[in-house]
Amino acid sequence: MPDQYGFDHLPTRSGVEVRCTREDCSIGGPLHLWPVRLRASHFRMHDREARRAREKAAAKARRQATRRIQAINRVRREEART
Ligand SMILES: [Zn+2]
Repeated sequence: MPDQYGFDHLPTRSGVEVRCTREDCSIGGPLHLWPVRLRASHFRMHDREARRAREKAAAKARRQATRRIQAINRVRREEART
């Protein structure tokens, strides 16, 4: 069961292993015992990354929509000429 920051706490021989459960995490774990402050900042980092990815996808969708509209307008202009 991940904690509030999305970290798993797995019991091991040497204590508890803390690891990030995000699939796309480049750090992941195991990284010994992550202090709460580190876990919180790591969590915020994932949050920022997710937001950036969403914004990028939205910008791409906007660009594609603009291109579609431009293409439609081009066809209409050509049709109007003939
Ligand atoms: Zn992570």
